[in-house]
Order: sequence, then structure tokens, then C-alpha cells
Amino acid sequence: MPFSLHGLAVSQGIAIGRAHLISHATFEVAHYTIRERDVGQEIERFEAALAAVRNDLTVLHADALAPGAPSELSALVHVHAMFLDDPMLAETPKELIRARLCNAEWALVQQMQQLAAQFDEIDDSYLRERKHDIVQVVERVLRVLLGKSRRLTRKGNDKDELIVVAHDLSPADTIQFKNLKIAGFVTDLGGATSHTAIVARSLAIPAVVGLHHARPLINENDQLIVDGTRGVLMVNPDARVLEEYRLRKRELELVRSKLKRLKTARATTLDNIDVSLQANIELPQDIAQVKEVSADGVGLFRTEFLFMNRDTLPTEEEQFEAYKAVAKALAGKPVTIRTLDIGADKTARAIGQSSRQAPNPALGLRAIRYCLAEPQIFLAQLRAMLRASHFGKIQILVPMLAHQHEIEQTLAMIEVAKQQLREKRIKFDENVPVGGMIEIPAAALALGPFLKRLQFLSIGTNDLIQYTLAIDRTDESVSHLYDPLHPAVLRLLAMVIQTAHKAEMPVAVCGELAGDPKLCRLLLGMGLRQFSMHPSQLLEVKQQIVMADTEQLEAKVARILRCDDPERIREQVERL
Ligand code: PEP
Ligand code: MG
Repeated sequence: MPFSLHGLAVSQGIAIGRAHLISHATFEVAHYTIRERDVGQEIERFEAALAAVRNDLTVLHADALAPGAPSELSALVHVHAMFLDDPMLAETPKELIRARLCNAEWALVQQMQQLAAQFDEIDDSYLRERKHDIVQVVERVLRVLLGKSRRLTRKGNDKDELIVVAHDLSPADTIQFKNLKIAGFVTDLGGATSHTAIVARSLAIPAVVGLHHARPLINENDQLIVDGTRGVLMVNPDARVLEEYRLRKRELELVRSKLKRLKTARATTLDNIDVSLQANIELPQDIAQVKEVSADGVGLFRTEFLFMNRDTLPTEEEQFEAYKAVAKALAGKPVTIRTLDIGADKTARAIGQSSRQAPNPALGLRAIRYCLAEPQIFLAQLRAMLRASHFGKIQILVPMLAHQHEIEQTLAMIEVAKQQLREKRIKFDENVPVGGMIEIPAAALALGPFLKRLQFLSIGTNDLIQYTLAIDRTDESVSHLYDPLHPAVLRLLAMVIQTAHKAEMPVAVCGELAGDPKLCRLLLGMGLRQFSMHPSQLLEVKQQIVMADTEQLEAKVARILRCDDPERIREQVERL
């Protein structure tokens, strides 16, 4: 039966395809079919994981018997060991591997879901609660299995367009879509400027998040339409709706292809003001897209994605190669590489954050705070960036700065990295510019040390809005409060841009606001002349710029900035 669900539109466009379900966040496991001749090997992999967990539990049991250990621990470990050896967990998944030719992780999760449903039916509350023990045991086994392979994969024979349906997706999961032909995705959780949504936009695949009940209501292979512009998901639509959306999809493709004509046009306003349009990237492979739209440089290279989906940290050498590749490919255009912004919704196994979740990760040891706490990791990255500066026009950008002492410590670390390179006679650009992201209200309100000690600024509006309005950008339950047009946000933005201009300090916006064509005129009117966004949005923004007159906009925006009424602000922004 056809039905539709409404969520947050996070990545524009229309995708039509078949549902491909990914299980609950805890069990974001690879789901793929194996060849018949690999069944034995897959079963061995499963048995090895069981043996490893059995071993862990034996060690834990010994610890649990030590004097002073809580008495419940020993009982708990005992129950877990019992479940682990029960044929329903130790044997049935093997049968599923054989019968359905599915990988071990997926077989285990299917069986777990089956058992969990049976436990839900039990009247006795004590026994019913044992479901959680089963889930925990399965999690242990999955962790071992995933340690070896945690890749999202497509079945080799998939011809249909696939739409991923998940309860939640991490940025690390989503970045893997770059190598898989995924037509779109939908999730139950997530906010519009979460990094998962940002990656979706960078892939230019339609996505809707915050749907609440998509995962339980949709079956594998259901036909889906994702309307990433309106935030609507249609499930098993009738033929008329399907035809209408096919038509709309073709129209959108036509508009996109017409936009390509702007590729070589200069981003100059009607009153002859040149605007720099740069690109945000996550991985070196994104450079192809940057070139396709002739961006003026890379305004933000989110390096943390190099650290995801792997068990070890990228070495200095690996990072150097990645940064050098981008620097060389941009052939003299600026490449702004941001130091590691790990933490909050971006976690990396190699850094151990997925298992060590902070009580409030967005306010915790994130970005520069993490780097200053881990000098060896930071220094390796700084050396890699500096070495790459010999091959192009590199700028170093530092995220989440708020305190003067953080700026001083960062500069001191850059000096240490430079000295280490000098001692080894390795070449780098001695004058590599260092800039700070303005994404914490404290930084926006007290710009002095930034203006004194750094060479450029880049406003991270995603976080600036999150921290100004005190709403978690990844939490769909407060997404209605995430308002880029809140007067406080607009005034902070305008103030940073104007203060920077007065101090003759280059300033860019690299948050999602910069790539929103509807807000482009507002930013121009605030005086912004440097925008950095995902390449997929660049030509649409350029189209706005070539039709704008900054003088007129400045007068109108000055009035908007004095306004306190959100409805009037919205109306006036629409009329700009
Ligand atoms: C921002 O906060 O606006 C930004 C560009 O950084 P990120 O989205 O990676 O936090
Ligand atoms: Mg940020």
C-alpha cells in the first residue's frame, strides 16, 4: 500500500529506486551475499569471532572474581558466556550463512532480531529483560567481526538504483557511499547540518533525515521516491505519482545541466564586485568535482574523513600524499586544509572515540581541543600539511578555537613542526598562512586575538548556529530550533565579517549557509566576498551572484540586521 513520510530535506534532488535496509545504528553491519565456495571461510570467520569473545569473557570472569569486584559482574559474565554457547547464537547463524549465502555479521543480526522478537513476547518481566543480554553478546561478536571488515557493500548484481534506509548513519558510514552507487538515503534520526547530511550534499545524492519511523515501516526492495527538496519519502507509490516524479527528476536534471554554462563565467556582481567561490572537500578524490565547477580553490578540506573507516591512524606519509595530491591538483589555487576536527558526531575507530563517548560530545574534547591534548597526532598532521605546502598554495585552518591560549598553543605547535622539518632539511613554505575558524560565539564576540595572531578567518556557521542557539545540530527533535535567520546569528555573522574587513583580514564563510542559494544575497549584503561550499552547490550560488547588486543589498541587509521579528526577517530575506 502506498504511504508517505515527512522529514528534514537535507540534500536536494529526487531519487527513485529500491529500498536497501541497513539495521539499527548499533548494528550498522555490512550486508552482502557471498559466493557458495566462500561459505566455509565465512563460517570460520564467524567461529573465530565467537572464540575471541569466549576468550574475552574468560578473562572478564577471572577479573570478576577478584576481591572487591561487584558481585553482579560475575553473574552477568556467566549469563553472557551461556548465551554465547547456546546453539541459537552459535549455530543458527551458520545455517543462515549456508542457506542464504549472507555474510556472518548479517546472519548474526538477523538471528538476534528473531530472538529479540521472541523475548518481547514473554510475560515474565525478568526473562523478557534477558533480551538485552543477548543484544550485548551479539554486539561483542559484531565488534570482533567488524574489526576486520566494516564496509558497506553493494551486491555485485544490483542493477536497480538503491536507496539506503537506516535508523541512523554516521558520517563514517555515509562517506563510504562515495564509492558505491547509492541513489539516495533516508534515516530516522539526524539533523540538517549533521555531518551525515553534509556528506550527502557533497555526494549530490538526495537525502531525507529525521523520518522517525522509516526503518521499521519499510521492507527490503520496497519501491521508494526520495524527494530531497521537500523532505518527503514515498513508499510503494502508485503509477501516477511515479510518473509525475520521473518527470520532475528529468526537469531537475535539465536545470542542472543548464547551470553548467556558468562554469567558466566569473563570479562578479552587477556592480562589478568579484566574489571568490571555493569548494569544501572531504577526500582528495573530491578534486574532480572541484575542477568540474572551476572553483577558485579549496576553502575547507575536512581532513577528519581521512581518519575514518580504518583501524589505525593515517601515517604522516599517507597524510602528506593526500594533501600534496590536492595541492598539486589545484595548481597554485589556495587549498585550505583544516586540522583534525574529530569528536562530536565525527568519530574514528583509530582514535577510540566510538567506544569512549563523552557525556556531551559537541561540548567535549573535539577539534583543536583534542589535537592539543594529543600532541603527537597533531604534530604528525602539521608536518604533513607543511610538507605539502612545498607543492602548492596551502593554508592551515584551525577549528573550534575560543581562547587566546589555544591560539598561542596552536602557533607554538606549528613552530615545533616547522623546526622538526628544518632539522631534517625538508622543504616547506615558511610563510604558510594560519587561519582560525569562527564557530563558537565566544570567538565571534572576542575577535582580538584572532585578528592579531592569525592571517585569515573562516566562519563555520554550522557550529556557530549550534552553539549560539544551544541546539545539537544532529538531533532532529530540536531541528525546528536550528534557525540560521535568528537575529542573534545574523548579528554575530555580520559583526565578524565587518570587524574582519576593518582589520583587513580575509574572511570566508565555509558552513552550509555559504552554499544555500537562498541566503547568498543576504551574505553579500553583509559584505561577504569569499564563500566556500560543496562543489555541487557552487554554480547555483554563482547564478545568484551574477544577478546581485551589492550596494542595493547592503542597504537592505542593514535594515534586516536591526529587525527583531523573525517573521519579518524571513519575509525580507525572501524579498532581497
Ligand atoms: C561549520 O561548523 O560550519 C563547519 C564548516 O565545520 P563542520 O561542519 O565540519 O563542523
Ligand atoms: Mg564546525
